[in-house]
Amino acid sequence: MNPIETWSVEKSLDLYGVRLWGAGYFDISKTGEMQIRSGSGISGKKVSILEIISGLKERGLEMPVLLRIGDFLNSRIKLLHDSFNKFIKEYNYKGKYRGVYPIKVNQQQQVVEHITDFGKQYHHGLEAGSKAELLVAISFLTDPDACLICNGYKDQEFIDLGLFARKMGLNCIFVIEIPSELELILERAETLKIEPRIGVRIKLTSSGGGQWAASGGDRSVFGLNMTQVVELIDVLRAKGKLEYLCLLHYHIGSQIPNIRDIRAGVQEACRVYRGLAEEGAHMSYLDLGGGLAVDYDGSSTNSPSSRNYTLDEYCADIIDTVIQNLADTDFAHPTIITESGRATVAYYSILLFNILDTCKFEPQPFNGKLPVDSAEILKNMGEVFNTLNQKNFQECFNDAVFYKDQLVQLFKQGQISLRERAQGETIFWNIVVEIGRMMVKSKFIPSEMKIIPAILSDIYYGNFSVFQSVPDIWAINHLFPVMPIHRLNEKPLREGIISDITCDCDGVIDRFVDLRNIRETLPLHELREGEEYYLGVFLVGAYQETLGDLHNLLGDTNVVTIMFNEEGGYDIVRELEGDSVADVLSYVEYDPKAMLNRIRKTAERAVSHKKITAQERREIMDAYSDGFRGYTYFER
Ligand SMILES: *Cc1c(COP(=O)(O)O)cnc(C)c1O
Repeated sequence: MNPIETWSVEKSLDLYGVRLWGAGYFDISKTGEMQIRSGSGISGKKVSILEIISGLKERGLEMPVLLRIGDFLNSRIKLLHDSFNKFIKEYNYKGKYRGVYPIKVNQQQQVVEHITDFGKQYHHGLEAGSKAELLVAISFLTDPDACLICNGYKDQEFIDLGLFARKMGLNCIFVIEIPSELELILERAETLKIEPRIGVRIKLTSSGGGQWAASGGDRSVFGLNMTQVVELIDVLRAKGKLEYLCLLHYHIGSQIPNIRDIRAGVQEACRVYRGLAEEGAHMSYLDLGGGLAVDYDGSSTNSPSSRNYTLDEYCADIIDTVIQNLADTDFAHPTIITESGRATVAYYSILLFNILDTCKFEPQPFNGKLPVDSAEILKNMGEVFNTLNQKNFQECFNDAVFYKDQLVQLFKQGQISLRERAQGETIFWNIVVEIGRMMVKSKFIPSEMKIIPAILSDIYYGNFSVFQSVPDIWAINHLFPVMPIHRLNEKPLREGIISDITCDCDGVIDRFVDLRNIRETLPLHELREGEEYYLGVFLVGAYQETLGDLHNLLGDTNVVTIMFNEEGGYDIVRELEGDSVADVLSYVEYDPKAMLNRIRKTAERAVSHKKITAQERREIMDAYSDGFRGYTYFER
């Protein structure tokens, strides 16, 4: 059977769900190569990821590589503003929309620079949650019409930096996260004679559900409860500074899968907003925080990896809810701010790596025949193997598991030999493999048998580290789309899980996106002699980079950013070499130079004990010093 003839690119698009999670940014060429589109939609230019990889190879950049597509940032920002502006017009909303990008979601300079440059036309601003992020924001934001939202706990230095930014003309707004910040802000403002703009972060009863439910809601550690809000107003009024208060902020969590929760949050916040305005605060901004979700599994449901709404529904619901909740008041429609991080940067990055090797699950063959003098337990197991069929496989599975336990017991009691135990295990695994084949044709699979495909699957060893590049897979069981980026015109004949090159059993990807369920194995192609096999983990632009760590001392990967050009091709606009071995060693307090000196001493001792010659010493030392300069990943 020729795997190309029985397969089509169309089938790969379906199998891996590309059209569902890809948001229009990805396609597959007729020759089975995954392509990137310059924007979301069918008209965009396309380039093959494999072609990009070969270009990088020629430039001497090794796998793994984090590939960033600058055009996707532009596209996300444009879509967000277009959608809000569309409904502002359609619903006759009297206020404006201002987006801000929360720096913590991907702090890389390139990202912030790109967003502030491209975002200028929309007055897209930044959100900072620490002094370092505030400095980033002040140095990259130049647009006085964009918002600079200061969340996070603020000390005097933070406040001073923000006040000076305000004095220089930036629209810097301090969001009070804990009540005691107010006093410090008022005191510094008075000392420096700069009028601050103040917002207040509130705890809503509504929670965002999903993975991050605890970051919003009553029990959230951030924000003020209603008693504290009232106290804040009283303090401001007593000091005659109520006009400083202009913004209401909340954040009910990231990746909110259900539109109902989003609506409930806006609704509750609108009531508080009215309350503040009624108290006499000069309210003009309603900041809804983040939460706009990404459909990682493409299911369009309220599962934690998805969302049951589109961007348009998100924007329409927000505008509509604000209008309704302010309808019977004279208060002007506020400027609506959202702090969408994930939805802005998730698509931007793809982790690409090569497969180093595979390990197949293949027990010794068993033909059903046993010598007549075999142990009773082996005969029983052989009997199960020989009677197994499509109708009784569930029963046979239970029997096989029962006998396997008995086999181990007998071995422990010294009643069967090591060889007999090995023979029994071979029969057991042959039964499981047969059952695995039969299960594929069966409609109903009992839950205790659902692990069988995963047990029988191949292991593909990928040249990357889960902990460094996709830490959320390990930390919170996050799902990202994973798939081969070429050979997609061939039927994938294997089922596998992916192991990274850390020596940690948690360094695996063994949950994959699927429309209905979570898949436990991924359809993959057989490796070919002398040819690389490349996989991509998609939608990894949000939160992964700086959360990643140096487990097993695997460092930052190489990073390459491309932008589409006028000619329909692409330009590499930025290239960052990943960490060298010496780099990662110095992060954990080693001094590579001193280490090399120690090795030199060992080599010298070996020379004086005549274990190596002086010439050999030189070769050995060259190899070690190259080792320090090398990439931390597997190099071919
Ligand atoms: C993390 C965070 C965001 C970003 O949330 P996303 O769901 O990634 O859009 C926005 N605002 C605040 C206050 C945050 O802490």
